[in-house]
Amino acid sequence: MELSKRITGLTGGGSDGWGILYAARALEAKGQYVANLTIGEHDIRTQDIILDAMHAAALGGHTGYASVPGTDGLRHSVAQRITQRTGVKTEPENVLITPGGQAALFTAHMAVLDPGDRALFVDPYYATYPGTIRGAGGVPVPIAARSEDGFQLGTDAIDNVGADATSLLINSPNNPTGAVYSSETLHAISEACRRYDLWLISDEVYDTQVWDGTHISPRSLSGMADRTLVVGSLSKSHAMTGSRLGWIIGPEDVIEHAANLATHTTYGVPGYIQDAGEFALAQGSALENEIAAPFRRRRQIVLDTLGRQQIVKSVPAQGAMYVMLDIRATGLDGESFASALLAEEAIAVMPGESFGASAAGHIRVAMTLPDDAFSEAFARVIAFATARANAA
Ligand code: PMP
Repeated sequence: MELSKRITGLTGGGSDGWGILYAARALEAKGQYVANLTIGEHDIRTQDIILDAMHAAALGGHTGYASVPGTDGLRHSVAQRITQRTGVKTEPENVLITPGGQAALFTAHMAVLDPGDRALFVDPYYATYPGTIRGAGGVPVPIAARSEDGFQLGTDAIDNVGADATSLLINSPNNPTGAVYSSETLHAISEACRRYDLWLISDEVYDTQVWDGTHISPRSLSGMADRTLVVGSLSKSHAMTGSRLGWIIGPEDVIEHAANLATHTTYGVPGYIQDAGEFALAQGSALENEIAAPFRRRRQIVLDTLGRQQIVKSVPAQGAMYVMLDIRATGLDGESFASALLAEEAIAVMPGESFGASAAGHIRVAMTLPDDAFSEAFARVIAFATARANAA
């Protein structure tokens, strides 16, 4: 029996970029300790107070079908948070609750793409982006951000392909580069979206993790609220990755159609999990800052360690839980560097190439080990690169 081209072609073939992680797991299975700096997930679990709220909601009976677009309470809380953080008046009707940011990314593309429409996304990119676009029937078109520009997106990249495209997906703070788009970058992107009549899909799941610069939501820029769909999530901000709780913010009619899609796919998000999310948001920025604090500390460890040497160049590490390192001085590409680092030092990092051609010659380090273990492993990454560069 033949499967659909949509499902067999989803990942686009080739390596899925996680070879290093699988190799690291194989070593771990043999009993070897591996310093794992690959995965974008906190080294802490969801806080007990949030789990208590979830438990209470479930025991209280919120275990039946929940309202498909989201509970009134959570939609209201998200709308209020977005209004406060961006200054754009946002109503519950502008919010659709989804099972995580990933489902929001898919839904947003489903809402704006017809089959065969060209959908722009920025290279280096988060691993699921091209497959998400293909799944929604679109044709993924990468546009390059350059290491030399700190991975800020230049509009020349959009100018080359904008006229034939339907949408542009951006992500700031960025996974994998750690870039936070400047006001100048976002104004230029917004202008290009208006010039080429593009939908802007803005993935802001790392919006609470900004170390340098300010997070600006492009939906707040003039003329953008009607053409911007914002993707958000509690995964990163509240260490709730496994709860699968996210949202799309957009014009009311888009949200209505997106809710129809939810009715025919997910049928919504469990009510007790939404109640826990509402509780988590009610804790305000104090809890968000507490969850973000370890990454802020570890980013400082990165800066201090890098400041003591000249071989490895860091791309400005402005936000999110990652740093990109330019390791071209070692003479190795990202894949060879990551393989050798795992074999010789038992440290796993992601090769830049797994995030697209623009990150070749780089590695991505996730700051997701406890401070002492992270500091020790990061120093060994730099020592390894220095030794390689000196031997080159
Ligand atoms: N966008 C980006 C850039 C991500 O890094 C992730 C998760 N790593 C997601 C979206 C999806 O997150 P979730 O589905 O857990 O909300």
